Amino acid sequence: QPTLAAKVSESSYISKMKASGRNIVVFYGSQTGTAEEFAGRLAKEAARYGMKALVADPEECEMEELSKLAEINNSMAVFCMATYGEGDPTDNAQAFYDWLKAGDAELTGINFAVFGLGNKTYEHFNAMGKFVDKRLEELGGTRVVEAGVGDDDGNMEEDFLTWKDKFWPSVLDFFGLEMNLQEISMRQYRLVLPEVGPEKLFSGEIARLRSYLTQRPPFDAKNPYLANVIAWRELHKGSSQRSCMHIELDIANSKLRYDAGDHVAMYPMNDPGLVNRFGELLSVDLDTPISLVNIDEDSSKKHPFPCPCTYRTALSYYLDITSNPRTHVLKELAEYTTDPAEKEKLLKMTGANPEGKELYQQWILQDNRSLLHVLEDLPSCKPPLDLVCELLIRLQARYYSISSSSKLYPESVHITAVLVNYTTPTGRLNKGVATTWQCQYYPGLANKKPKLELEEVSHQVPIFIRKSQFRLPARPQTPIIMIGPGTGVAPFRGFIQERFKMKQEGKPVGDTILFFGCRNRAEDFLYEEEFQQCIDDGCLAMHTAFSREDPSKKVYVTHLLKEQSENIWRILGQENGHLYVCGDARNMARDVHDIITDICSEYGKMSPSEAQSFVKKLETQRRYSADVWS
Ligand code: FAD
Ligand code: NAP
Repeated sequence: QPTLAAKVSESSYISKMKASGRNIVVFYGSQTGTAEEFAGRLAKEAARYGMKALVADPEECEMEELSKLAEINNSMAVFCMATYGEGDPTDNAQAFYDWLKAGDAELTGINFAVFGLGNKTYEHFNAMGKFVDKRLEELGGTRVVEAGVGDDDGNMEEDFLTWKDKFWPSVLDFFGLEMNLQEISMRQYRLVLPEVGPEKLFSGEIARLRSYLTQRPPFDAKNPYLANVIAWRELHKGSSQRSCMHIELDIANSKLRYDAGDHVAMYPMNDPGLVNRFGELLSVDLDTPISLVNIDEDSSKKHPFPCPCTYRTALSYYLDITSNPRTHVLKELAEYTTDPAEKEKLLKMTGANPEGKELYQQWILQDNRSLLHVLEDLPSCKPPLDLVCELLIRLQARYYSISSSSKLYPESVHITAVLVNYTTPTGRLNKGVATTWQCQYYPGLANKKPKLELEEVSHQVPIFIRKSQFRLPARPQTPIIMIGPGTGVAPFRGFIQERFKMKQEGKPVGDTILFFGCRNRAEDFLYEEEFQQCIDDGCLAMHTAFSREDPSKKVYVTHLLKEQSENIWRILGQENGHLYVCGDARNMARDVHDIITDICSEYGKMSPSEAQSFVKKLETQRRYSADVWS
């Protein structure tokens, strides 16, 4: 056990920076790994400009130390901050956010820069980046360069590069340094071939070796619970070309608890066929044990993923092998490309000029190429596999809105997930990592088996629960309106189960109204029989919109909301009811927001701006809640 003093100095990034001659600290608030990746890239690049940077996770640092940064000459703090959910900080930045908000910090003399990562689809676009940038200045800090704003709905990579083009010259200018580019090795990790027995190799665990063999609560993101799948069934019927899975996961012996509205996260596994392609294309035995060790001994991150493990484990469980590679990855690949035309293509895409950006946009993003596709389409590109493992970002857990109520199902968590697969412009079939992994065990898509026998279900999924703010009202009498087309209905199945149970127990339950939409009643009406039962029992009122039954007109839940304007106003404006929206963030949730604002304006006799403030107030009171994804 480390002593307390050792622990303190371990988390003291200022001492670390002083001891290793660093002047820049790059913090990241990251949920899916992108902000962390950007932070790593900035730190790596600092060396090219003759500076030395440390990457730091605010969760592992005493952020109060920030005021001491001025003790280091020519120092600055950079923040790559992602916004999560409804304008919230990421989990690892929550404490930092609370500290900044509390506002007693004194940051005079602290130089800073912020790059915010967000998604314009969401209402509170880049709220965290904007907040940190504003707050650091209010607390006395000096902004070295204007904050950057990345939009994941557009082209995050391009936004980052554009900002970086301004960032480094501004930093040099600020500190009065000359632009004097150094040729340095860009490798952050060195390859070690460990000689260890198989029992010492990680095989997909997230943090503790053998944690899947000896499971120990409490279970969380770093220590997931290996849940048995105890039921699986296909929810789409008839001639639907798509597949939507209902999955039940056993949590009986896990001590995991959940409430309706929470999310369950699962760590998926990549398609073994894709993993094998890496071995074939790069002529490597994937069962070779490896360890990637950080060259920077002061970094708190010793390995990019749990090591030692085999290449196969890294590519199957730890690395995201299906997303589009970023430009710095292409730049590194160019070094290992022998054909001049192929090399030029890669280098062109990494350039800051408009043609390069256009080529990247088209060849990588629009054509939707993964790193594997790049290796296939540029056959002279043969990077060492350990470099590929260094460059790929971490495979992320996938989140699902839990579709059950713990009041009815305390020992299981239900998921409602639509299978992702689509053909890319280059004619390749891209298969969603997590949903394909779940589906392959039970190929419902092919035969639309309505229900599987329990014995047929025999695999396990590493999961953890993430608490959410999407909650039923405290009093069951409070009326609720739920709007959830497609898989957006998932959390509402849990809400309805809960209200149903309360009614059975003789409690007075308020109006429970669901707006559901799908393409065709006969194909993708999810949980139709269950909901019908609740309607028959007088626990649910349901409005359904089928968008593809009448080719001459689309009917969406939004149309039904308009028809029900008066009722909606009664519940929201007069009866203190709650409204919930779940599902597509891109269009549906926005359209719903606009319609509800219009309804409040018309029936509540408010001007458009008064109606907007009214809806804002509903949101702050948590009487208008959204659980949306894009
Ligand atoms: P991935 O391998 O991650 O592939 C998905 C990606 O492929 C997309 O992000 C997009 O970039 C791309 N893509 C997908 N379709 C196309 C297309 N047609 N053309 C081009 N590119 C495309 N999902 C549910 O089904 N049910 C839920 O209840 C649910 N709840 C969620 C709750 C939250 C809070 C969040 C954040 C997400 C939720 N999701 C839900 C989405 C879920 O987490 C996964 O993103 C989804 O299951 C896909 O995962 P995958 O690994 O199969 O696909
Ligand atoms: P879906 O079947 O595609 O859509 C459900 C219903 O909503 C359909 O009838 C659809 O109509 C309708 N709809 C479309 N636009 C609407 C709008 N603006 N307002 C109201 N209704 C609208 O739903 P799903 O497959 O369950 O997916 C739900 C959402 O989550 C989708 O947006 C999907 O893109 C997203 N999703 C993303 C991922 C991912 O990989 N990140 C995974 C799963 C789901 P039409 O289709 O006929 O227009």
